[in-house]
Amino acid sequence: MAEAVRFRVNQHGPAGSPVRETFTPADPKPGWARLELKAMALNRLDLWTTEGIPGYPLPLPLTPGCDGAGIVEVVGEGTVLPPGVEQGGSVMIAPGLSCGVCPACLRGNDMLCPTYGVLGHVCDGTAATHVLVPAANLLPIPGNWSFEQAAAFPLVFLTAWEMLVHKAALRPGETVLIWGGGSGVGSAAIQLVKALGGFAIAVVGSEAKAMRCWELGAEHVLVRGDLKALATRVRDLTGKRGVEVVFEHTGAATWGTSLSVCARGGRIVTCGATTGRETTFDLRALFAKQIQIHGSYMGRREHLWTLLALLQRNPTNPPFRPVIERVFDLSEYPEAQRHLEAGHGFGKVVCRMS
Ligand SMILES: [Zn+2]
Repeated sequence: MAEAVRFRVNQHGPAGSPVRETFTPADPKPGWARLELKAMALNRLDLWTTEGIPGYPLPLPLTPGCDGAGIVEVVGEGTVLPPGVEQGGSVMIAPGLSCGVCPACLRGNDMLCPTYGVLGHVCDGTAATHVLVPAANLLPIPGNWSFEQAAAFPLVFLTAWEMLVHKAALRPGETVLIWGGGSGVGSAAIQLVKALGGFAIAVVGSEAKAMRCWELGAEHVLVRGDLKALATRVRDLTGKRGVEVVFEHTGAATWGTSLSVCARGGRIVTCGATTGRETTFDLRALFAKQIQIHGSYMGRREHLWTLLALLQRNPTNPPFRPVIERVFDLSEYPEAQRHLEAGHGFGKVVCRMS
């Protein structure tokens, strides 16, 4: 076996602080598999794992990384593999971990499992050449996708699907305002809204990102600037009524505007707070407009299979695909973290194992 390498958070520090080390990969337990990773994708969760979350102790030292794709190298004794997955075959990883036996898991609602956690956040993740994962978290790679594409897919598409389909219950013909259209989850949401028959209004930070949102199928793209002017523009674009759904993950800086542009009876669904986690708002806007607010975290593992089925119906021209902004080598993982934090790019930041 070639030298196994991983990046470690030994103590919390700024983005880019994980330390490279060599290690001996452990053998998988029954029900688990060990992958030789070929690519991993970064998520905001990598940064939270590195920086630490107040009041939420993590089991340090820890290898971050929730998304990955590679080869099934070894499986634990007696382990049954999912359909389409075999030892030696190529796979991508579903990032959510749950017990599999509690009532929430049995309902398929694994994110509500009392033990729910994400790979690379509660146990060692994919910023490594090898990773251990439960066999239930393995999926075949769609069509002729590269390992980089497969690694960039699961977390953001699962998150956006859960938010749009299961939390916001998006209906064809409805309009969705998507903050951060150039982010991994934002670029996934633009494509899913279109695939689901809705209209996406994407908000981005620059003209360069606007063009990319058009290409992904956004109906309108607004370059963020003054938020009052942006809210007026959204009302103009929707015949004064506002949008039926607001796709939030930006948090404090945009929350007031999200409420203001949400239509009567509309839904705001949020999965993040990159600009700040505390905010105040006028409750009258909430009840007078009868707005529903949904919190969302990750998505049901089952729905990755749904997404896979949709992709496999038309593998040569899939209705959605991950957008990769930049590929680093795994040896540059700290730099990739800093690049993600700076947030200037469009789409996913990926590391390839050389
Ligand atoms: Zn459970």
